[in-house]
Amino acid sequence: MRPFTYQKASDAAAAVQALADANSTNGPLGESAIQPLAGGTTLLDLMKLDVMRPSMLVDINPMSDAWSTVSLEDGNLKLGALARMAEVAANPDVQRNYPVIAESLKLAASAQLRNMASLGGNVLQRTRCTYFRDVSYENCNKRTAGSGCAAMDGFNRTHAVLGTSDKCIATYPGDFAQALIALDASVEIASRSGARTIRFADLHKAPGDSPQIETTLQPGELISSFSIQGRWPRSTYLKVRDRQSYEFALSSAAVALDVQDGTVRDARIALGGVATVPWRAREAEALLRGQKLDDALTDRAVEAAFAGAVPRKHNAFKVDLCKRVTSRALHQTATMEI
Ligand SMILES: Cc1cc2nc3c(=O)[nH]c(=O)nc-3n(C[C@H](O)[C@H](O)[C@H](O)COP(=O)(O)OP(=O)(O)OC[C@H]3O[C@@H](n4cnc5c(N)ncnc54)[C@H](O)[C@@H]3O)c2cc1C
Ligand code: SF4
Repeated sequence: MRPFTYQKASDAAAAVQALADANSTNGPLGESAIQPLAGGTTLLDLMKLDVMRPSMLVDINPMSDAWSTVSLEDGNLKLGALARMAEVAANPDVQRNYPVIAESLKLAASAQLRNMASLGGNVLQRTRCTYFRDVSYENCNKRTAGSGCAAMDGFNRTHAVLGTSDKCIATYPGDFAQALIALDASVEIASRSGARTIRFADLHKAPGDSPQIETTLQPGELISSFSIQGRWPRSTYLKVRDRQSYEFALSSAAVALDVQDGTVRDARIALGGVATVPWRAREAEALLRGQKLDDALTDRAVEAAFAGAVPRKHNAFKVDLCKRVTSRALHQTATMEI
């Protein structure tokens, strides 16, 4: 590991002040000179692997009192960015009103990691593409812009089929983000110039020609919280992976439905393990709205979700797998006892 300095921020103002000095050419998640440190469960791994090389870490954990609140007021949920995954997954309000959030967190990583890892760090975790994480491979456009992509003709079983480009096919690895994008969450952001709010759907950037730029966060900006309007008790997160614990999704579906007298009034579907960014299946949702959910309609919806899929040599199986996961999640959600 390379030498770096460590600074503990006394409060949010001190943290954003320290971060404002960040000097990044690759976006805030690239080779930024200064990185915020939350649980450290992925940042420190990437530093040990020499993939990320910050010269300074700003520890934001002293802001935990202010930034780890979980509150449900007037039917709106607010989740502090420093709340721990385990704590939010176990919160009775979250379990009752947003099962898709509780399940997406509970099915992620391991118990020890969930105790340590924060929500903000979770949504900003980086791809598990093995070529990205192994610096002995020189050709990775995400790590070094313009260097090529080893995965394109390499072993790409875990890679994405949706949202890819000819520069990068890396999968976005997180689970919680699928729940957030399905529920139209917003993200509150703090920086030295003040606070701003964006849609969660606008946080991550598809690779396009610049896979090294992963989010729309500007250097020096911190995520302070996430918000969701309204309750979604009829919601589910279903995840399929190579083993039942401590593993990333090969395929997952976050589904939330508003059903009255058998008719779908609103449908939200997000897909994980198959796309380069948290992925909303809007074409599938549109087919379901105003309709009675049955097998034929479900089949049409999942076909629509994958109409634009671009499979590679080793990952074509994900298309069928994720269609089945999504069908099952839809059925499970529609038949939930509320
Ligand atoms: C073995 C293993 C298995 C895993 N399995 C899964 C899984 O199945 N599903 C899943 O979803 N995740 C999985 N993870 C990822 C894990 O959930 C993340 O490591 C964790 O959520 C990151 O949170 P953290 O607080 O530790 O982030 P950190 O490591 O502290 O930070 C991550 C990144 O986010 C930045 N950051 C952190 N907080 C903020 C903030 N508030 N504002 C701006 N930037 C910030 C940091 O600078 C850093 O770049 C796994 C991890 C490991 C090691
Ligand atoms: S898929 Fe993306 S992250 Fe993986 S090697 Fe190619 S450019 Fe790098």
